[in-house]
Amino acid sequence: MPQACVIGAGIAGLAASIRLRSKGYEVRVFEANPYTGGKLHAAKYGDFRFDLGPSLFTLPHLVDELFDLMGESPKDHFEYHQKSTSCHYFWEDGTRFQAPADRAAFCQEASRVFGEAEENVLGYLKSSDRKYELTAPVFLEKSLHRLNTYTNAKTLKALALSSGLGIFKSLHKVNQQRFTNPKMVQLFDRYATYNGSDPYRTPGIMSMIPHLEMGIGTFYPKGGMHRISQSLYELAQRHGVKFHLGTPVTRLHPEGNRIGAVETASGNYPCDLFVSNMDVVPTYRKLLPGVAAPERTLQQERSSSALIFYWGISETFPELDLHNIFFSEDYREEFRHLFETRDLANDLTVYVNITAKETPSDAPKGSENWFVMVNAPGDYGQDWATLRAKARQLILDKLSRILKRDIASLIQTEAVLDPPEIARRTSSFRGALYGAASNDRMAAFLRHPNKHSRFDNLYFVGGSVHPGGGIPLCLLSAKIAAAAIPECRNSA
Ligand code: FAD
Repeated sequence: MPQACVIGAGIAGLAASIRLRSKGYEVRVFEANPYTGGKLHAAKYGDFRFDLGPSLFTLPHLVDELFDLMGESPKDHFEYHQKSTSCHYFWEDGTRFQAPADRAAFCQEASRVFGEAEENVLGYLKSSDRKYELTAPVFLEKSLHRLNTYTNAKTLKALALSSGLGIFKSLHKVNQQRFTNPKMVQLFDRYATYNGSDPYRTPGIMSMIPHLEMGIGTFYPKGGMHRISQSLYELAQRHGVKFHLGTPVTRLHPEGNRIGAVETASGNYPCDLFVSNMDVVPTYRKLLPGVAAPERTLQQERSSSALIFYWGISETFPELDLHNIFFSEDYREEFRHLFETRDLANDLTVYVNITAKETPSDAPKGSENWFVMVNAPGDYGQDWATLRAKARQLILDKLSRILKRDIASLIQTEAVLDPPEIARRTSSFRGALYGAASNDRMAAFLRHPNKHSRFDNLYFVGGSVHPGGGIPLCLLSAKIAAAAIPECRNSA
């Protein structure tokens, strides 16, 4: 039976291993960490459980279809439900907005809180739907690096309509032209952070992102986000994928126009096919030294990273939900610090995720598990001890001011994750959460393709390659790569 090696068991590596298995390959996955899931991992600090990375779950059918592919019922192994409120938003002046998932209710509430005309908000959401429906089949669900993508009628239509899609202005400009209330503009600018970009530079086409939340919906997996990677790991194991945990791949061995073997501390493994789920920058720099690298792609600006505080809080806050955002007063300044001076502004937008709202056992009775995150620049060797201390103080001051409680006095347990640690744990270049940033109109075309241009049997999946970062796009990267890989059922 032909053999395939997957390097890395992040969400995309797990999905790739399942898809290759379904194509008849014998699959081995080499994972540097003693656990699978990469950024999608969990931990217990004291009596509090935390999802360590992603907290927002969209497009769950992309997980379901992996179970379907293997002939299993997703519901038997992986359950989730749709959220009726997508997020609670807070501002310093006391404005609060609980965003309903229901579209009509959202428009009504936005009109009440922000004074925006309901039809105007609805018009924006409809245009978000249209942009998504027109561009996703072209830019997210297919390889952009195959000629037939461009000869396809849908692509031609998307390109022909591209100026109307807001490609030539920033997301902020699109939002500012639509809404009168700056808070509404800020709320919709925030969607740039879904792929770690800057709303003042990322193209207006990103105004399709709200469609994911307000057109399709946000979801929560039973047992927490970690169940996404864990259930795929279990699925892969049930179907015979072999996992080598705690086994970093140290080199790929080229043989002519193919890769012959992976090298690990426990020996070399020859294989027929290779899929790298390692960030594409270290894949070239570390695993393929001496092989010409696509420098323009590798030197693209990276997405933002994050500073996360995991706090066990000895009280409950009925005004908070699963997702909560406390906005800064100067959003532009925040992004200037993230992408220009590469440090932190003096007022930060704070995201608080509380899974105990959905799974009470994640925290002791009367307490809550707070995942508190601020956007941070990538790791360029800054003084992270100083930045961590600054962020912690700013966060505590803001949350205490807005929630009118002394938050510091409620912290029972504490852990922190910063960009260098994200890089160390997952090999993400500069600790970027989403690979390259989409601050440029050409970013989609500059992302590394899912197949190597010279080595016939080397493929790439994950947040640093096409179509991009975030759970849904990582799952799509595995789907696009697998579609280009030949079936080998007959030879099995
Ligand atoms: P990763 O998760 O980066 O995993 C790569 C794996 O490869 C790791 O396990 C690593 O150990 C392994 N590896 C690397 N090199 C080697 C080697 N040489 N040999 C063997 N193994 C190797 N996305 C969302 O959709 N929603 C969110 O709300 C969200 N929030 C986020 C919050 C945080 C704090 C973070 C960190 C990320 C967030 N993301 C979110 C982004 C999302 O987590 C990532 O895009 C996605 O999980 C990346 O998956 P991946 O498959 O590319 O690889």
